[in-house]
Amino acid sequence: MDNMAKLQNSGVPKQQKEIVRFRFHFQGTVQGVGFRPFIYRIADKYGLKGYVQNNTQGVAVEVEGRPQEISAFEGEIDGNLPPLAEVTVRQVQEVEPKNSDSFQIIDSRDQGEHSVHICPDVAICDQCLEEFFNPSDRRYLYPFINCTNCGPRLTIIRTIPYDRTNTSMAEFPLCPSCLEEYQDPLNRRFQAEPNACPDCGPQLSLIDSKESKLEVDNPITETLSLLSEGFIIAVKDLGGFHLCVDATSDPAVKRLRRLKNRPEKPLAIMVDSLETAKKIGQVGSLEEKLLKSPQRPIVLLPKREQKLLSKSIAPGLPNLGVMLPYSPLHHLLLSGSRKILVMTSANLSHEPICIQNQEACSRLAGIADYLLVHNREIVVRCDDSIIQTIGNQCQMIRRSRGFTPKPVRLRKSYEPVLALGGELKAAICLLKDSYAFLSPHVGDLASPQARDFLEESIELMTRITRTRPSVVAFDHHPAYFSSQLAERMSDCRKIPVQHHHAHVVSCMAENGLCGQVIGLAMDGTGYGLNGRVWGGEFLLADEADFERAGHFAYYSLPGGEKAILEPWRIAAALLRETLGQDWRRIAEVLRLVPQDMSFDLVEKMLDSKVNNPLTSSCGRLFDAVAALLGIRRQVSFEGQAAMELEALAKDHPVERIFPYQILEEQGFVFDWRPIIGCLVEERIHVPIEELTAIFHRTIGSALTEVACRIRERSDQNRVVLSGGCFQNRLLLKTTMSCLQKNGFEVYSHCQVPPNDGGIALGQAVCAGERIRRAIYRDTV
Ligand code: ZN
Ligand code: ZN
Ligand code: FE
Repeated sequence: MDNMAKLQNSGVPKQQKEIVRFRFHFQGTVQGVGFRPFIYRIADKYGLKGYVQNNTQGVAVEVEGRPQEISAFEGEIDGNLPPLAEVTVRQVQEVEPKNSDSFQIIDSRDQGEHSVHICPDVAICDQCLEEFFNPSDRRYLYPFINCTNCGPRLTIIRTIPYDRTNTSMAEFPLCPSCLEEYQDPLNRRFQAEPNACPDCGPQLSLIDSKESKLEVDNPITETLSLLSEGFIIAVKDLGGFHLCVDATSDPAVKRLRRLKNRPEKPLAIMVDSLETAKKIGQVGSLEEKLLKSPQRPIVLLPKREQKLLSKSIAPGLPNLGVMLPYSPLHHLLLSGSRKILVMTSANLSHEPICIQNQEACSRLAGIADYLLVHNREIVVRCDDSIIQTIGNQCQMIRRSRGFTPKPVRLRKSYEPVLALGGELKAAICLLKDSYAFLSPHVGDLASPQARDFLEESIELMTRITRTRPSVVAFDHHPAYFSSQLAERMSDCRKIPVQHHHAHVVSCMAENGLCGQVIGLAMDGTGYGLNGRVWGGEFLLADEADFERAGHFAYYSLPGGEKAILEPWRIAAALLRETLGQDWRRIAEVLRLVPQDMSFDLVEKMLDSKVNNPLTSSCGRLFDAVAALLGIRRQVSFEGQAAMELEALAKDHPVERIFPYQILEEQGFVFDWRPIIGCLVEERIHVPIEELTAIFHRTIGSALTEVACRIRERSDQNRVVLSGGCFQNRLLLKTTMSCLQKNGFEVYSHCQVPPNDGGIALGQAVCAGERIRRAIYRDTV
C-alpha cells in the first residue's frame, strides 16, 4: 500500500502522462531466491518494458508503461514475494522514459560494495517433492533435485556473487535440458544455481570405512537394508555428515552410543512425517509450524509414552529432538517402511561435523560401518539448528542450518565489527551497517579441529559479506581460544566485552532495545571483571556499558572444571556454607559423597586454595540442588542434572516459596542459603517433584525481587533475560510471569540462543556501540 502512496506522491499527475518509467531498488535476501524471474513474470503480465538486474546492492528494476499498469505491478509484488525472498529496503524513484521495447533480465553486475544477503539452505519444496516421487519425471528419485525456491545455498558457496561458477556445483556442467530450464525466465529453475539432474549432477555412492566403493545397483536400497541389520551409516548431506541408525532398535542405538563415546546426551531423530512425530512427541501448532518450516530445525518435543523408539534415544529427559526430512536424500531414507532414524551430527566429541568424504572415513573409522556419500563438495560446515517452544514463543537453542547466514536486523547502523564469541557453543558474528551476521554453529573450542573451524568461519563470514572489519570484539577470559586469537589479530582494534554483558546485549539487540535496561544474566560460568567466576548476574546495562548491580552469593567450585561433571562437589560446598560443621551429618544421610571419598578429603578440597574458585553461577546452583535432592550426583554432559531437575518440577502446581535473603553489600547479593537449608530439611517428608517446583518458583521470585530493588534505584522498567539457564523453560516462564505481575516489561530470546551461542552478537553490538559513541564524542 505504501508504495502506491509513494507513486501517487511522486508528483506525477498520472492521467496526463501516457508513458512513465520508474526505477525500483530492492535490498535484502533478493538473490538466489527467484526474485528476478518473479519480477519478470509480473512485468510480462502487465506488458511493461524495462529490465531487472542483480547488482552488489541487491536487485534493480526499471519499468516503463502506463501509470495504472505500474501501480498494478507494484501492488502485485507486495504480499506475493517468492517464499525465500525478504526485502529489507525498497526505494522507488521516477526516471525519464527510455522507449524500451522489451523487458529483459540483465546479467549480474559485480562491482562496488556488497550488501546482498546470502540465503540459508532450504528444505526441498512441495513442487520438487512432487516431481521427485513422480515416476515419469526426469528427476524421479534423484536426490539432488532443487529449484529457485529450495535446495542448498550457503553450504555450496565459495564466494559471492552467488553464481554457479562460485559454488561447488561449478564442477557439474549443465546438460542441455537443465541449461534450457536455467535460461528460461518462465521456468521455475531459471538461474537456480544448483540445478541438476541424473545426467549432469552429483551422484551417490556407498563406500566402506576404507573408502572402497561397494559395487551395488542402488546405494539407497543397500543402505536401507544395512540399516535394518543394525549397521551405523554415515550419510553425507547438505551441511555435513550424519550418523544414522535404526531408531527403533535398542542394540543399534546402544552400539552407536558406545562407539561414539556418548553415553547419555540425547540423540536427534528424523521421522518420515508429522504423523509419526505426533506418535512419539507432543506436537502443538507452533511445533508443527516449526517442524514443517523450510528451515527444518530439530524441534524439542515433550516425549509421549510409546513403544516405537529405543529407550536409549534421550534417557532420563522429558524431550525428544525431532526433525522432518529436509533433503531429497532424507526422503529416500525414510520412504517405505522405515519411519524413524537416529540422525546425529557425525563428529567425535569436541570436534566439528565432518564434511569431506576422506575426512569422514578417517575420523569416523571405528564408528561408521559404511558411508553413503556424494561427489558434491560441502563448502561450509553447517549443523542442524535446534529450537524449543515456550508457550507461544520459540527459542533458538542452536542457530545454524536454515538460519545462518540470515542476519539479525539491528535498530542502528554500525561500523564493521568482528566478534569471536566464547569458548563453548562458539559462533562468530560480523556486524555490518544495521545487520549482524552470525556464523554457523562452531561448537566447543576444545579440539584443534574446532579451532580451525573457528578460523574457517571468520574467513567465510568476511568473504560472503565482503567486509574486513578493523575492530575485533571478544570475551575477557584470557584462556579462551577466541580471546587469544583476537590478541593475535595485530591489525585490529581490540575490544573485550564481559561475558554476561554480552549475553544481555545480545538479547537487547534481537529485541531492538537501546538505552539502559535491567539485565538478568542467568548462566553457567563466565569470566568476571574481579577475577571471580560470574554466572548469576544482575546488571544495569546499556549496549556499551554496564554496572554490576547484584549477583548470587559466592560459593566454591571444588575441583574447578571437574565440578561441572560432578555436581555432588558443589552440593557439598553449598551444604557446608549453609550448615557449617553439621554438613557432614546431613551429607551422610543424603549419601551425597561417593563411597570412595572420605569426608576429610572432601573438607580438604573445600578448603583448598588451588582449583577451588569462587563463583556466583546460577547454573551450578541448579546442578547442586539436583545432587542434593538425589536426582543426580554425576553427569555425563553439562547441564544434564539441571535438565532433569526441570523435568521433575514440570507442571507441579505450587503456591509457596522457600525463604531467601537479599543482602545489600556492594550491590544486591542473593543469598540462597536459606533455600538449601529448607530443601534438605523437607527432603524427608515432601515429594521431590514438589520441592523442585518450589525451588524454581523461589528463584523466579528472588530474581524479581532483586529487579524491583534495582528499579527503585534506577527507574528502569525493562528487564532483559539472557544466559544459558533460561533454556530451562520452567525457570523462564516462572520468572517472566513474576516480573510481569510486578509491572516490568520483559524481554527474552527468540532469534539467537540464550546460551553462549548468542554472545558473539552481544559482543559485536557492544563494540559497535562503543565506537559509535567515541565517534560521536569526537564530532561534538
Ligand atoms: Zn524446489
Ligand atoms: Zn541435467
Ligand atoms: Fe554464558
